[in-house]
Amino acid sequence: MLVVMRADATAEQIAAVCRHIESLGLRAHAIPGAQRTAIGITGNKGALEPSDLEVLEGVAEAIRVSKPYKLVSLEVKPEPTVVRVGRAAIGGGELAFIAGPCAVENREQLFRIADQVAATGAQLLRGGAFKPRTSPYAFQGLGEKGLAILAEARERFGLGIVTEAIDTESLALVEQYADMIQIGARNMQNYSLLRRAGQSRKPVLLKRGMAATLDEWLMAAEYVLSEGNYQVVLCERGVRTFSDHSRNTLDLSVVPAVKAVSHLPVIVDPSHGTGRRDRVLPLARAALAVGADGLIVEVHDQPEHAASDGPQSIYPRQLEQLMEQARRLAPLLERSAPGAAAGAGAHPAYGAGEGR
Ligand code: PEP
Ligand code: MN
Repeated sequence: MLVVMRADATAEQIAAVCRHIESLGLRAHAIPGAQRTAIGITGNKGALEPSDLEVLEGVAEAIRVSKPYKLVSLEVKPEPTVVRVGRAAIGGGELAFIAGPCAVENREQLFRIADQVAATGAQLLRGGAFKPRTSPYAFQGLGEKGLAILAEARERFGLGIVTEAIDTESLALVEQYADMIQIGARNMQNYSLLRRAGQSRKPVLLKRGMAATLDEWLMAAEYVLSEGNYQVVLCERGVRTFSDHSRNTLDLSVVPAVKAVSHLPVIVDPSHGTGRRDRVLPLARAALAVGADGLIVEVHDQPEHAASDGPQSIYPRQLEQLMEQARRLAPLLERSAPGAAAGAGAHPAYGAGEGR
C-alpha cells in the first residue's frame, strides 16, 4: 500500500499518518518527492483497506501497489534516486566511475593503482578485502587489513571506497571502513545479509545475481530498503547463458528495463560482464549509451600478477581512455563526466596501446 500525501500536507500530518501505520504493526517509509511525500507501507500483517487511510488528515489517496516490490518502484517514488558516495552523486547528472583492482593485495599495489585511478577523474576506488572465490584454495582477500589499506587510500587520494561484504560479520567491518558496501552476485539472495545491509547507514551497491531475473533483483533491493536504507545502487554484471565466448553475458537491455520500473540508479560492470580486458571498453561505452548511471571497472597495473581477475583487469592507461571517451559521450547522453585530475596522463608506461 502507498499513501500519497497532499502537496500541502504538513510535517505533523505526515508524522501522524506514519504513527497510525506503525500502530497497526506495520512499517511506514516516508519518501519525500518533488511534488509530494509518499509513504510506503511494508510488513506482512495482511491487507489494508485504502479507505481506512484516506480519512486521515493530509492524505490525498491510498493506493495498492501493483508490483511485488514496492519501495523500489516508480509508483512509490517517481523521481530518480541520487545516491551520494564520496564525491560521486550516483544517479545524478554526473556519471559515476568506480575503478580499482579486483582485490587489495598489499598497500603498495593499492596505492599505485589508486594514484592512477584518481588521476583519471574516477570518483571512487574499488578493491575487495573479502573475496567470494569459487575455489576455497584461491586468494580470499586480506580481510580487515585490506579494509585499513583502503581507508588509508581514501585519505591519501581523495577517493570514496567501495568494497564487498560477504557475510554479516564482514559487513560490520566494511561499514566501519568503507563509503559503500558491495553485495556480490553470489549473495544477491542472501536475505539475512540484505537485511543487515538495510540496517546500515552506508549506501549499498547491489550486484545482480548471475541467474537472477529483473524481479528477483528488485526484490533483493526491496529487502535493503524495507529495513530503512534507501541508498541502493543496482549493478548489472552479466548473467549466465549458453554463450561461451565471454565469461558472462552482459545484459545491457536490463538497464532501460530497470529505469522503466524503479527509481534506483543502475551502473554496469563490464569487467565481470565480459571477463576479457579487450571487451571492457566497448561494453563500457555501450553501457553508458543505454543509460547506465555509471560504471565499475577492474584496473590493475600488473594484471599478469594479479591475485584475482587479472585477465579482465584493464590497465590504468585504458581507464584513462575510457574516461576520455565518457567525457566525449556524456553531452550526447545529456550527462556530464568528471574531469581528469591535474597531472593526469603522467603514467604513459602503463599498458600503452592496449585500449580500443
Ligand atoms: C567483484 O566485484 O570482484 C565480484 C566478485 O563481483 P561479482 O559479485 O559481480 O562476481
Ligand atoms: Mn573481480
